[in-house]
Amino acid sequence: MPDTTDQRIAFITGASRGIGRAIATRLAADGRCVVLCSRSEAPLNDLKAEIEANGGSASVRACDISDSASFAKAIEDTFSEFGRLDILVNNAGITRDNLLLRMSDEEWDDVINTNLRSVFVACRAAARPMMKGRFGRIVNIASTSGLVGNTGQANYAAAKSALTGFTKSVARELGSKNITANVIAPGFINTDMTKNLPEQVIEHVKGLVSTKRLGEPEDIAAAVAYVTSDDAGFLTGQTIAVDGGMTMC
Ligand code: NDP
Repeated sequence: MPDTTDQRIAFITGASRGIGRAIATRLAADGRCVVLCSRSEAPLNDLKAEIEANGGSASVRACDISDSASFAKAIEDTFSEFGRLDILVNNAGITRDNLLLRMSDEEWDDVINTNLRSVFVACRAAARPMMKGRFGRIVNIASTSGLVGNTGQANYAAAKSALTGFTKSVARELGSKNITANVIAPGFINTDMTKNLPEQVIEHVKGLVSTKRLGEPEDIAAAVAYVTSDDAGFLTGQTIAVDGGMTMC
């Protein structure tokens, strides 16, 4: 295993594909030791091998983040393994879209548990290790749906919107320990989550976006790289929309 003594340890959820994979790849390229988390283990092992082949450091912790006990344990085990936990990127998320009148309790609960409660569980588990290290960078990945709402996404928008108030509270509680907490709210990004959208929806979105293109996972990874850097110690409690200008007003 490579020597990680001088590397920041970064725990990233949803690293098996899409935005999380791009974040892990970017942070590893920037010299972080990345701890890769998602339910499926095989793609994490493939990504670990790819990162190591490029000279980086990576470790795999497969778990279901909606299972609070096993998710908290994955974070605690990371601290035990490396003796530090410097960066936490809560990126994993799901959609269970439906119109309000048709939305089931299960669709509501699945999204709230995976997209919101897991973030609380992770931040609570990571806070003490970060306080011990007197350094921490927390990034919670929300969505522009949480800023402006979206038809069919009452559950998803509620969870993503709640991340803003939650993250500001964490930023206030932990700021004096040199721990920052911020939200990044992506707009429409080319991933599995958006690949089945009808063509007319894609064209409509492109019309709303100043840059006239959908975002790429690497656009989000670049923002995460800055917000989690040592240089970003004075940036906290903020929600940064990385959306090609879609929600600017
Ligand atoms: P994808 O659907 O492509 O990937 C989701 C990732 O989350 C996968 O790695 C998946 O791995 C993991 N995941 C899902 N559920 C769980 C779980 N219960 N436990 C552990 N891991 C889980 O999504 P994106 O990359 O597009 O999205 C990433 C984040 O960005 C999400 O929070 C999403 O809400 C947000 N976002 C995305 C936008 C977009 O346009 N794509 C726009 C705005 C926000 P596995 O299935 O193996 O567990």
